[in-house]
Amino acid sequence: MSSPNDVNRSGSVPRVGLGVDVHPFEVGRELWLACLPWPGETGVSGHSDGDVAAHAVCDALLSAAGLGDLGAIFGTDRPQWSGASGAALLAEVVQLVTAAGYAIGNVSVQIIGNHPKIGPRRAEAQDAMSKVVGAPVSVSATTTDGLGLTGRGEGLAAIANALVYLP
Ligand code: MG
Repeated sequence: MSSPNDVNRSGSVPRVGLGVDVHPFEVGRELWLACLPWPGETGVSGHSDGDVAAHAVCDALLSAAGLGDLGAIFGTDRPQWSGASGAALLAEVVQLVTAAGYAIGNVSVQIIGNHPKIGPRRAEAQDAMSKVVGAPVSVSATTTDGLGLTGRGEGLAAIANALVYLP
């Protein structure tokens, strides 16, 4: 019996996926964001480096390929991945998506928070993420005008989408 996923696999219809991640700030930790270190910026808490941009892109790619999500792929049954960097997780996700037969068209990720300022390092961030993904990654940023958890300066969030297709 075929599922909607099977139907798309049999054709040439591109598939999009969505991913979101949030981590709270934690004073004293180094910040990793968009596969880059951000010296002097407040880091975030989490088992891993808490790279919200990398994690959101991972979930977007997994979703696009119909492979589930980070929790399913790197959950408790693969403890060797606990504490892995965002870049390492992303590289593994790219591997899984590719192994499933998909090519990655492009990825877009938006970082939501009061700081750091992304603009001055956007090109660097796009370059770093594009190298890991092997396809163009656009990095943008926004604030929420003081509203919500990011507006109150409690943490960082990111939302991503990804397009994959059967080559
Ligand atoms: Mg995360």
